Amino acid sequence: MSTVAKETMPDAQGHFGPYGGRFVPETLMHPLQELEDAWRRASSDLDFDHEFRYYLREFCGRPTSLYFAERLTRELGGAKIYLKREDLLHTGAHKINNAIGQILLAKRMGKTRIIAETGAGQHGVATATVAAMFGMKCVIYMGAVDCERQVLNVYRMKMLGAEVVPVHAGQKTLKEAVNEAMRDWVTNVRHTHYILGTAYGAHPYPVMVRNFQRVIGDEARRQIMEKEERVPDLLIACVGGGSNAIGLFYPFLEDQSVKMVGVEAGGEGIRPERHAARFQGGSLGVLQGTRSYILQDEHGQIQGTHSVSAGLDYAAVGPEHAWLHDEGRVEYTYATDDKALKAFQTLAKLEGIIPALESSHAIAECIVRAPKMRKDALIIVNLSGRGDKDVAQAAAKLGLQMPQ
Ligand SMILES: *Cc1c(COP(=O)(O)O)cnc(C)c1O
Repeated sequence: MSTVAKETMPDAQGHFGPYGGRFVPETLMHPLQELEDAWRRASSDLDFDHEFRYYLREFCGRPTSLYFAERLTRELGGAKIYLKREDLLHTGAHKINNAIGQILLAKRMGKTRIIAETGAGQHGVATATVAAMFGMKCVIYMGAVDCERQVLNVYRMKMLGAEVVPVHAGQKTLKEAVNEAMRDWVTNVRHTHYILGTAYGAHPYPVMVRNFQRVIGDEARRQIMEKEERVPDLLIACVGGGSNAIGLFYPFLEDQSVKMVGVEAGGEGIRPERHAARFQGGSLGVLQGTRSYILQDEHGQIQGTHSVSAGLDYAAVGPEHAWLHDEGRVEYTYATDDKALKAFQTLAKLEGIIPALESSHAIAECIVRAPKMRKDALIIVNLSGRGDKDVAQAAAKLGLQMPQ
């Protein structure tokens, strides 16, 4: 077992071991430093903490419950399974935790315009929501392919008053949307804040987003101690950029008895361009501001990716996960599209909860692991979001017919 001294990570320049850092054009160095300064001041300001907790509680619906999945547990016949119900939050996923934190920072910095990238649209919706709430202008960049497969979220963002800009470059998904958002930021940085949606990008985003999301793990820890009077044996979370996973994992990193598994998108299997599992065939590289594990070819060209879930469909992973992987503190595996879709149905039918396709990847791994564990073992699965946005896509994949 590694001895991860989490309080020292990242270092002052945002490095998690060999990962992370700040790889951006010169014009963004100053705004990133300004953001870091504002975030550091806010982090030690009790008023900021008070305000952050106020909106999480009163607007978002925190704390979310740690729910005992009784029928799933019985069906699998092994470890006792708890679900951390981030799907119950306002706007339907954990993304709102970070969006609230960052808009409060933007307000403190005197910014009046908000931009963001989005994949599945959950982060776009969360950002459009907080921008509406604080009366700020909002522009969301979204890949044209993602606009198509997440049309419900496009309408939600528009209804919230945001401008949605479809991005037609390249693969027309998340990576291209991030490029466009960064281009916008360079141009409009004086009055614009970029609310990046995951524990990724140039320093301070990965550590800042982690700290806004650690509320998930802090709550889960308190709740499992209340219910079971001990820490769990296993934590499971899906990993896109890595924010819901690090949010759950971080407060448990120093509990050596707690095992952790991050689940990436296995897509149609581990073949070039057919998956988004960065720890299966990814290599060290720099993409969109940070150094991490990246899916790239031998010339350093970013490879295409595929996943049934837009929120996991990205060629790079957050730098803290890269480091936790190398340290051996967290294990990373993947679930294929088929397994995720099966888990999606299982949770709906056994527990009355339709999970996001992203979260279904974590459920799929739970279905593999729980039966092999003792009945007195405890698992917490992060249910990062609800599946309303995925219902039409899943129905098509599963061949559901309209009743005649
Ligand atoms: C965006 C999203 C993810 C993936 O992002 P992370 O930063 O890895 O958490 C996972 N689940 C849901 C529901 C999402 O909306």
